[in-house]
Amino acid sequence: MQVINDNGCSWINDLSSRVNYKTLSSDLNCEWLIVGAGYTGLSAARKLAQIYRNKKILLVDAQLAGEGASSRNSGYLVDTTLNDGFTSNKELENYKKKADIYKLGIETVKRFIKEYQVDCDWNECGKYFASSKIVDTKILEKFSETLSKLGFDHKILSQKDLSRKLGTSFYNIALQTKGGILLHPGKLVRAMIDALPENVDLYENTTLLKWKKNNNSVDCKFKNGSIKTKNIIFATNGFFKSLGVKKNFSFPITLTASMTRPLTDKEFEDIGSPKEYGILPVKPLGATIRFTKDRRILIRNTVEVYNPYKMSKEDLLERSNYQKLGIKRRFPNLPNDIIQSSWSGIVSRSRNSSQIFEKIDNNIFAAGCYNGSGIGVGTLFGEQIAVKVSNQNSEEINTIEKRNKPTWLPPQPFLNLGVRTRLIYERLRARSET
Ligand SMILES: Cc1cc2nc3c(=O)[nH]c(=O)nc-3n(C[C@H](O)[C@H](O)[C@H](O)COP(=O)(O)OP(=O)(O)OC[C@H]3O[C@@H](n4cnc5c(N)ncnc54)[C@H](O)[C@@H]3O)c2cc1C
Repeated sequence: MQVINDNGCSWINDLSSRVNYKTLSSDLNCEWLIVGAGYTGLSAARKLAQIYRNKKILLVDAQLAGEGASSRNSGYLVDTTLNDGFTSNKELENYKKKADIYKLGIETVKRFIKEYQVDCDWNECGKYFASSKIVDTKILEKFSETLSKLGFDHKILSQKDLSRKLGTSFYNIALQTKGGILLHPGKLVRAMIDALPENVDLYENTTLLKWKKNNNSVDCKFKNGSIKTKNIIFATNGFFKSLGVKKNFSFPITLTASMTRPLTDKEFEDIGSPKEYGILPVKPLGATIRFTKDRRILIRNTVEVYNPYKMSKEDLLERSNYQKLGIKRRFPNLPNDIIQSSWSGIVSRSRNSSQIFEKIDNNIFAAGCYNGSGIGVGTLFGEQIAVKVSNQNSEEINTIEKRNKPTWLPPQPFLNLGVRTRLIYERLRARSET
């Protein structure tokens, strides 16, 4: 298998290029190996290295650390999500379990940025769940009831307020939550790389090709070397299935996003000089729209089953053109050619939107599958899987383990057929919102 990405992601291109990284080219033995250096793997490595200060922890990634979904996302550190199902009291209980995990995720990231003095454009401005369709008021009112029962501060806004705050008259109804943070995902994950303790050895451009459990160890094969490890943590998220990890419980989904150049002073004034904001769609397959503090517009409006992992230039361009239309629909007076970059990223989904946090065998662990909300939960699960590996317990683990476990998926080709059919249905429902 190959894990390669386009080089069009604005969040990555905002940062200086990484230099002096190591690639595996020999045969090594170790006690702990972590595969995948996104929020999850980096947090697991940091925590494990703090627990075992005198031991070596190996961390490998198929590409440059942090340059997978952890840099390619929209930067919403969420306290609540809308599209999780929550109509009955039983679902309310499930929703609360999920919200408890999101809360811990936010606290974990907050602690990290405080301890390491991280500047990642942190803005506690909350977010909007918005729609152009007034009929979606019903969905938002139902959501408002749920949020009220759980004590989340929020309000419903109408078109007049929205066009003033958002600089577009596209939206007719929205629910604004006070909680939730917007941040620069690339800066956050880069800070996690920089914060790796000295007893972590990071190998990049080092793809795990095959692995096999032997009595008390796991043998891992790479292109130019091998690692024999006593314990392994899989933190590969969208790539669990291709590595044969929990393969009947999660599947990869590809998203694409585009970012404009910063608006000029005139363009900014013409749309009413809005403050930084983030909008999530009311219908799951509608567009995510962010207006950044440096006046760029981000749009993410595609969700698909896409094989192989690397998206061709032509396909990415097609999606970028679709995103151009999404921006035009909301900001008709802005020029046509303001998209600066487009990129794709891979996330992991489960059937019931639940996450993986598990000891799979006595020395094999996995954490991931965040269904599009992995900034906080990934950081939390990474730290806590390290605690679990070291045979300790914590309040956080107790909260995590109360969640519903991911449910079993049908085998191929039924899985792809089912997912594709669902996506077509959701796309039709959201066609006015892309
Ligand atoms: C467009 C987009 C928008 C999103 N928006 C948001 C958002 O606003 N808020 C939010 O919370 N989440 C969002 N997400 C999801 C979020 O980015 C992920 O949940 C999060 O990055 C998961 O982190 P991770 O470390 O588990 O996985 P990843 O960041 O995917 O890291 C996994 C790593 O494993 C490596 N790997 C895979 N296979 C191998 C192998 N064989 N050998 C070695 N290494 C391997 C990969 O190279 C990768 O670096 C979005 C994702 C995308 C793509």
